[in-house]
Amino acid sequence: MSNCLFCKILSKELPGKIFYEDDLCIAFDDINPQAPVHVLIVPREHIPTLNDLNEGHRDLLGHLCMVVTKIAGMKKIKDPGFRMVINCNPAGGQMVYHLHIHVMGGRQMSWPPG
Ligand code: 5GP
Ligand code: ZN
Repeated sequence: MSNCLFCKILSKELPGKIFYEDDLCIAFDDINPQAPVHVLIVPREHIPTLNDLNEGHRDLLGHLCMVVTKIAGMKKIKDPGFRMVINCNPAGGQMVYHLHIHVMGGRQMSWPPG
């Protein structure tokens, strides 16, 4: 997607401090962190929202969840605990329309979220 922010970070057209990457996804720190650890995991495939997933994405989603725990381990938040979030569409608070998982930790999370 030519005008997609995360596609531009994926293609290195825009800078991003990518600290993890594999054949299916990349991970980098959120530019506006909401917690001491705030990582975005972004699939290489341009999928706009959760609503655009299909059966063909089952393995990708499983992989992304495994990467969440891998990154939580790398960032030392696995044991104290952390939160993973996917925002979907305007009422869900989505701002960038390329599917991504937020991984947040390093502080006590509250519930319900805002
Ligand atoms: P959403 O609201 O779509 O779930 O989350 C988008 C996230 O992307 C936000 O937390 C926002 O801070 C982050 N973000 C927006 N632009 C950039 C950018 O250029 N670089 C990085 N690293 N994060 C960004
Ligand atoms: Zn994209």
